[in-house]
Amino acid sequence: MRPERQYAADWSRARRETTPRRAAGESCELWGIYRSLATRAPLEDTLGRIVQVAAEAAGGAVAAVFGLRQDMLAVLAASGGAPPWLRPPAAIVPAAAPWWKLRGRAVEMTGEAGWAVYAGMAGGMRWCWSDRLQTAAGEIVGCLTVFLSQAPGEESPSREMEELKELAALAIEQANLVEDLRFRAEHDLVTGLWNRRRLEEEMHQLQRAGGAAPAALVLVSLDGARRVREILGEETGDALLREAAGRLMRLPEAGFAARLSGDEVAILPDGGAAPQEIGARLLEALDAPFRLDGNEIYAQAAIGVAGAETGENLTQWLRRARAAAAAARARRNGGRCVVFDPTIALQAPERLEMERRLRGAAGRGELLLFYQPQVKVPGRALAGYEALMRWASPGVGMVSPGAFIPLAEETGLVVEMGRWALGEACRQARLWEQEGLPARVGVNVSALQLADAGFMEDVERALFESGLTPRLLELEITESAVMENRRLAAERMEALRRLGVEFALDDFGTGSSSLAYLKDLPVDRLKVDRCFLSELERGRAPLLESIIRMAHQLGLPVIVEGVETEGQWAAMERLGADEVQGYLTGMPMPAGDAEARARAEARAGQSDI
Ligand code: C2E
Ligand code: CA
Ligand code: CA
Repeated sequence: MRPERQYAADWSRARRETTPRRAAGESCELWGIYRSLATRAPLEDTLGRIVQVAAEAAGGAVAAVFGLRQDMLAVLAASGGAPPWLRPPAAIVPAAAPWWKLRGRAVEMTGEAGWAVYAGMAGGMRWCWSDRLQTAAGEIVGCLTVFLSQAPGEESPSREMEELKELAALAIEQANLVEDLRFRAEHDLVTGLWNRRRLEEEMHQLQRAGGAAPAALVLVSLDGARRVREILGEETGDALLREAAGRLMRLPEAGFAARLSGDEVAILPDGGAAPQEIGARLLEALDAPFRLDGNEIYAQAAIGVAGAETGENLTQWLRRARAAAAAARARRNGGRCVVFDPTIALQAPERLEMERRLRGAAGRGELLLFYQPQVKVPGRALAGYEALMRWASPGVGMVSPGAFIPLAEETGLVVEMGRWALGEACRQARLWEQEGLPARVGVNVSALQLADAGFMEDVERALFESGLTPRLLELEITESAVMENRRLAAERMEALRRLGVEFALDDFGTGSSSLAYLKDLPVDRLKVDRCFLSELERGRAPLLESIIRMAHQLGLPVIVEGVETEGQWAAMERLGADEVQGYLTGMPMPAGDAEARARAEARAGQSDI
């Protein structure tokens, strides 16, 4: 008898022999599977029933269901008598599983390549029938495989097998869906890290467990991702975030890591390492550049650590960690990891005292302006100055704006102080203008001033009283100042530009808007923040490069802030920056020194001719 005929005979005999038993049990068994599906019983229960029925349908064979997961065939269920390699959670790569290729055929296990390993391993079974499991949507989710002691006879063993296949596919699909939903509910889909909701749950669990609460919360703020998003687009920003998250997850110290909204990752560290040490470890991991779209990009992480405080909820805890991260970011040269301490958020009594002293500082003559040279690239000829406020506070000494401008903004004092700065800068610049010295002066304008009803008048008065040519006054505004009220800001800016006043967009790259939005803003110059220079130090500066290129496409000259080294200067020449403002070409200095420098340069220029 030819082999095929033999299978046919055997398969029919097997069916005949088991039919009486099945006839009674069939409806009952299938009913059990349906009920299992309908009640969303655990997947292994439903599949357990399916393999049992399949084994019986094939006449006392061994049946198994494999699920296809992450390119592996995992044994999800196997009927009684299955050998160990066929019992969950065993898994195998599809290429090494010869039954994966069968697709509804039966073969003798010694007959084809690849079977040798399995011959004699399937509990004495010699034949194998297998078919893939396909969902209604056409997705392949696994296979139903039967190992038989003798050859089955039909290409497709029975209608019942078809039905079992469908049920198995349905069960797997259902389980995958539930798992997918659960994953989505607890994870951030971009990075695969936990999400904020899960972080909150984790904290509650730890609190309930008592005692074992984590000692610190570490907040990693990936400033590079935000910048990449603005310049290279959302997808590249996500890619950076994903890779950064991958590096964090590989660190044993990282413990429980969750992505918060935006480009922040919160970490509840494992183990007893000191927070500072953990911060350093994280920074180190994020320090190497990321290769994205053929660019080398830096994560520019700032890390804030806040120790646990009893009775605090997650929001309060995060607020402290965030304040520490902001302090880390503000530390221009120091470490990028700061541990929260109460002095970071100025204590209320100290703030009140400082506010009291700041009030009326302008009237008492305690404010002064320093001037920092802005020079042309190439050549370094003086192009103008930025006026930077200083506060000579009695008994304290010279205070930098970083220490008082934020408070001045919060209290509204910045409007009065800014008004003074406008008047003083115009007065000084007019003196230089009359002397024939470079007299362009940049004056910082805060969001509050721009929104103030008297702002237009303040500017007009400063120009009128000084007599300065309006074109020489350049008002520096930040993206965020404009964003607070785009329509109003744009209207005021347009009106002032009609007077001849110019606008520079300050701190470009630290805000939240994008180059695409830039073309709608009435600005005359782009001031690029110094944060891009750190990128440069480590090699190429793709972000800076594209900012300069795109600004030029929009017809905007670019001034780069914070150039400190000759290497950076050379790069500015190479990248085509128009001007530079930085310690290399001049520190902020009192008006007298600034004037002396301008005169010296003018004399040198004359002797050159
Ligand atoms: P800004 O407008 O970005 O000013 C540039 C800051 O960078 C200045 O800090 C300047 O001293 C510093 N800088 C310049 N070149 C370099 C460099 O090569 N390396 C480094 N590390 N830093 C450099 P400063 O004077 O402390 O002012 C800080 C901020 O305070 C200013 O940032 C500005 O936002 C604000 N500010 C200053 N004066 C005024 C003002 O009159 N009104 C208002 N609203 N804000 C002001
Ligand atoms: Ca500025
Ligand atoms: Ca700036």
